[in-house]
Amino acid sequence: MSFHFQKLPKFKNLRGKTKHNGWYKVYSPSVKTDIAIHHSLTKTGNSAAFANYHVGTLGWPEVAYHFVILKDGTIEWNHDLGVLSYHVGDSNKFSVGICLVGDFRTEEPTDEQKLSLYLLHEALKKDLPNYKCTRGHNEFPGYAWKQCPVFNYKAVIAKKPVAQASKPAPKPKEDDDMLEKAIVINAFPDFAIAEVLAARIKAPIYTRSALPAGKVAKELYVVGGTKDGLQADKIVALTGKDRFEVAENVAKFLK
Ligand SMILES: [Zn+2]
Repeated sequence: MSFHFQKLPKFKNLRGKTKHNGWYKVYSPSVKTDIAIHHSLTKTGNSAAFANYHVGTLGWPEVAYHFVILKDGTIEWNHDLGVLSYHVGDSNKFSVGICLVGDFRTEEPTDEQKLSLYLLHEALKKDLPNYKCTRGHNEFPGYAWKQCPVFNYKAVIAKKPVAQASKPAPKPKEDDDMLEKAIVINAFPDFAIAEVLAARIKAPIYTRSALPAGKVAKELYVVGGTKDGLQADKIVALTGKDRFEVAENVAKFLK
């Protein structure tokens, strides 16, 4: 059997191809009545990176989301529709999870992501025999506190986004455009530690390997790893000899 969403442009089947340790329970697609929209809270990433974190660090069987939409609009498919994966707590059993890569507290989804979300959502409405509604993560019971997905997903799924006319040329980077604060983590497992700091100082999290060249922010908070090679007016190093010491230093800083 093939689904409507499998025929979408930029569709990529990753089922069983990312890190796992056992498997989630599988039900029929007919148990799914809801679609849950998430953002990754990271500037970069993909299903493989999230799988490493969810399986390797959090100890879950597989990656959380049924679908991940990358910045370039690629739709990564991770689970059969009926799979009970972990993304909305008590609502997991009846919800299909879609995660857009990005931290939408400080940025917008790309036009490519918006178009892919619209198309995927339209397809899923046909592919889920008992579909009832779509909600943001924070609209599920118990998650009102969660800043997810932040962007106006209702506007995106309501109407097919039109291609943008030519964009204005990017302005040269000046201090005024620069982020006030940003957080640099050494590797994805430091993300959980950095997330608390990010919420407090309202700054985006970059993994070191994905940090754009040059000066990104006026103040940089380094969580894990070295501050060598980083540029900023002020660098706050919250590092340590291992992950526990890093966590301790971040906790001290937050006091
Ligand atoms: Zn979420």
